[in-house]
Amino acid sequence: MNKGNYQNLISELPESVKLIAISKTQSKEEILEIYKLGQRDFGENKVQELVAKQESLPKDIHWHMVGHLQRNKVKFIASFVNLIHSVDSLKLLKEINKEGAKLNRIIHCLLQIHIAKEETKFGFSEEEVNSMLKSEDFTSLQYVNIRGIMGMATFTRDEEQVKEEFHYLSELFNLLKNEFFRDKPDFTELSMGMTSDYRIALKEGATMIRIGSLIFGERNYH
Ligand SMILES: *Cc1c(COP(=O)(O)O)cnc(C)c1O
Repeated sequence: MNKGNYQNLISELPESVKLIAISKTQSKEEILEIYKLGQRDFGENKVQELVAKQESLPKDIHWHMVGHLQRNKVKFIASFVNLIHSVDSLKLLKEINKEGAKLNRIIHCLLQIHIAKEETKFGFSEEEVNSMLKSEDFTSLQYVNIRGIMGMATFTRDEEQVKEEFHYLSELFNLLKNEFFRDKPDFTELSMGMTSDYRIALKEGATMIRIGSLIFGERNYH
């Protein structure tokens, strides 16, 4: 955990940008240290870890799910998750809607868009997201609220490429907002940027950045 890095990051961010501290693999103690500095938004990429931490850490933490989410695990997080950044299919969205309906809770989501060169990353293409948003299957969902979109750039040192990918995501955000969310004032979030590329993401209009290793140091996978 690096308090200095955390405080520098906070002072660098415009008021309009929310920092999501990505705490995957970090201990409760380490999370609490950042919590004590005022951080309330934390993100995890695995359901089991997210549930365990939510149960044992302060209840005013806002938990974000940022990793690939399997449909059969939605039920474990539906009651408390603040925002799911990683919705990558209509099937998943329907499942989230179903769990939301059971709890009578509207679940806030971002649509993950595939912008990287790597095939391994998840997300909708522009075409897929357009056709989903047009479909009645989508418009009939009552218990999900789409707050914006999320993307992960290619893992590369080529800053120009990262910039192009974030720029594309930002333009797509505006297109979707105009086309499908004109009367939805809370379609506002553009989640992009991690430790290696958040400065580029900020220049391209990110409203949420997801930072792990800069705050917590290198991750220990065990
Ligand atoms: C791990 C992770 C991050 C944070 O990565 P860092 O490089 O440690 O800042 C952001 N977003 C997602 C989806 C992640 O899985």
